[in-house]
Amino acid sequence: MTTNPTLSPQRQPEDQDAALRPKSLAEFIGQAAARDNLRVFIQSAKSRGEAMDHVLFHGPPGLGKTTLAQIVAKELGVGFRATSGPVIAKSGDLAALLTNLEPGDVLFIDEIHRLNPVVEEVLYPAMEDRALDLIIGEGPSARSVRIDLAPFTLIGATTRQGLLTTPLRDRFGIPVRLQFYTEAELELVVRRGAKLLSVEMDSEGAREIARRARGTPRVAGRLLRRVRDFAHVLGSPVVTAKVADEALTRLEVDALGLDAMDRRYLTMIADIYKGGPVGVETLAAGLAEPRDTVEEVVEPYLIQLGLLARTARGRVLNDRGWAHLGITPPAGGLQGGLFGEGK
Ligand code: ADP
Repeated sequence: MTTNPTLSPQRQPEDQDAALRPKSLAEFIGQAAARDNLRVFIQSAKSRGEAMDHVLFHGPPGLGKTTLAQIVAKELGVGFRATSGPVIAKSGDLAALLTNLEPGDVLFIDEIHRLNPVVEEVLYPAMEDRALDLIIGEGPSARSVRIDLAPFTLIGATTRQGLLTTPLRDRFGIPVRLQFYTEAELELVVRRGAKLLSVEMDSEGAREIARRARGTPRVAGRLLRRVRDFAHVLGSPVVTAKVADEALTRLEVDALGLDAMDRRYLTMIADIYKGGPVGVETLAAGLAEPRDTVEEVVEPYLIQLGLLARTARGRVLNDRGWAHLGITPPAGGLQGGLFGEGK
């Protein structure tokens, strides 16, 4: 968790995601390449009258993986069942889900990289042959039975494609990478949200929120609600750039959309490690955050902004990172880009 829940791209309990969730591909803003491809696959599956091939969405949290999965089911005109990797404890739980699917249904598994390996084994024949291999009984009398499943589409979502096992990854016919949104796209997301929430806003106000939303629609929606609250308290009927800026500054969201955690992360590399390279474990320990949070939540956006580089030898602050902190890099310090991008 980042220290500022307003900026966390992860789902928070108070998020009324459902209210702002686009319901069709046409309503879905951004991710043009992914949308165009999905439209083709959906049309083709519908015209063949078959279940669509399995899809894997990967990318940072809050970019629309769950939303797109729901839209795919809706556009295919089939049922939608959702679960998540860590929730499926036993292979029997997955078997129950799979045998209850109607022909053509979409089964959505969020955080699919966190599936238990034993459960994952059940998924392989289910995805490939649309069949379940169940072991009945124990010991010498145990026997294997094969049950045929209705044709279905598995949609997996993961923030860490690299953690997926190769056999699982290879079974997805349609891998889709979601990118951070551009400022212009987020401006559309903010305007759409403002309309849905009946918030009056001018275009500079929308732009200000978009610029500080970390390339992430979930954060844009949340900032919009917080700014609305401030505007209300300030007695300002219209959200202008000034109102948005005042509200976001009070929420400690800086001009690039960075929060206190991001700044602590960058300052630590600059001050203690002279700009790096420094290992992610060391940084996570210094911030008292789990390594996963640092890698999945904090770093992707800093890398996207060009403030930070992941290199084979560790994290390195780029020139833009130093500039954003307003610190002059030490002479002869190691700068980003020397080692090339690594994972
Ligand atoms: P993920 O599953 O990738 O974490 P979600 O699909 O739950 O993300 O999306 C988070 C929120 O962001 C949703 O409530 C939705 O309202 C909003 N959202 C995501 N993508 C878009 C988009 N393209 N246009 C408008 N809102 C979006």
